[in-house]
Amino acid sequence: MPQKGGFARNVKRAADIGCRSLQVFLGNPTAWNPPRPDPKETENRRQLLKEQGISPLVVHTPYLINLAAAKEEFYHKSRKLLRQTVMNAHDLGSPFVVLHVGSHGGRGYKEGLNQFISTLEEELMDNWPPGIELLLENTAGAGTSLGGTFISLGNILKALGDGAPLGICLDTAHAWAAGYDLSTPEGVEKSLAELSETVGMDRIKAIHANDTGTPRGSNRDRHAHLGEGNIGEEGFMAFFSYPWPEDLPVILETPEMGSHWDAINMASLRLFSGACREASKES
Ligand SMILES: [Zn+2]
Repeated sequence: MPQKGGFARNVKRAADIGCRSLQVFLGNPTAWNPPRPDPKETENRRQLLKEQGISPLVVHTPYLINLAAAKEEFYHKSRKLLRQTVMNAHDLGSPFVVLHVGSHGGRGYKEGLNQFISTLEEELMDNWPPGIELLLENTAGAGTSLGGTFISLGNILKALGDGAPLGICLDTAHAWAAGYDLSTPEGVEKSLAELSETVGMDRIKAIHANDTGTPRGSNRDRHAHLGEGNIGEEGFMAFFSYPWPEDLPVILETPEMGSHWDAINMASLRLFSGACREASKES
């Protein structure tokens, strides 16, 4: 959902084009202070989501958050902002908060990862609101960023244990940029087998379905309209022929959000997922 236009207008627009789940930023994604909405407004938003049949609401954390940051001030601000975002998401009845694993900033992969894991341990133990899962999103793997490979995400999940309120949000464009082939049935099969071995399919709680305009393995992130990028129609058809759970939220983060393109991408998503599965069942 785009930022501009306001919450209510965008929720109605999304419902009009047939969305059943929705992802939002609760404020400016590149600012340190999320707004603390007043309880009345929060109640109105909850009511509107219910009326429009939108569930689950997925909340994306601001991009600034880096729990692997070396700089003390940056790190503490990140923790505070994560906590505020999670509390705001909880107030809105959202079960999922998406977080990027962050970046070690040049001081070494292991040190950055250890700090990320120990921070999550503390956060998830310390009055974590009930009913909310933190979803780690795989990244394009650029520079010093963590969480580009399935094995690295799997290791984080393992370190925090099976009972942690922690899952994965799989972004198809980021996986492609990190080197996973999702453009052919064989590539999808291989990539999902690796995902299953390292992360476990039961830990995938949301999908970011994005096509991509960059070469595979380039670590560059540029989303494209569904079926018009390098993953393409064949790739998405193969990806969605996997028996994903029926209630898995699939989110579009395609270009020109808020324009007529949203309806086109929704139609493509339906074609590549549910509809093609139905058709293959019949034939
Ligand atoms: Zn994403």
